[in-house]
Amino acid sequence: MMNKQVVIGCRICKDFYEITNGFIQIPNHLLLLTAYEPPDLDMLFYNNHTCTLCEQTLYITPMLYQFFVEFTLKPFDVTVHETSIGIKDSTNEGEMDLNEKEFYIKGVNTSRDLLTNDNDLSLLSDVMEEFNYKSWIISVDTLD
Ligand SMILES: [Zn+2]
Repeated sequence: MMNKQVVIGCRICKDFYEITNGFIQIPNHLLLLTAYEPPDLDMLFYNNHTCTLCEQTLYITPMLYQFFVEFTLKPFDVTVHETSIGIKDSTNEGEMDLNEKEFYIKGVNTSRDLLTNDNDLSLLSDVMEEFNYKSWIISVDTLD
């Protein structure tokens, strides 16, 4: 069993501090990305996630919580980008376009069915309906 973590970050602050990189020093105690391991998810659900820089809050809805709990048990990693969601494991990689809600496999030797299934993609699609991916960065990835 691979160890997974949920990583949440504020996209607005990340973009801002990347653009102004070199002009503004971020104090060490302020983090752009916060990692939550599976035992932390109940507390995350209870407390929500607040950006340490701009103090906007990501409210963890029951569906977002379900997504975190289920996807920390999957063999693949998920990254939510601004217009798409990337899914990959050690050999297969795919991407769901958030406008078209279509899933595309990347590369010649990859298989959608080995990577994921309709239930995963349908949950992802539902979660994105109520998650503001323009404001937040989210990934579920494998701990090194
Ligand atoms: Zn922020």
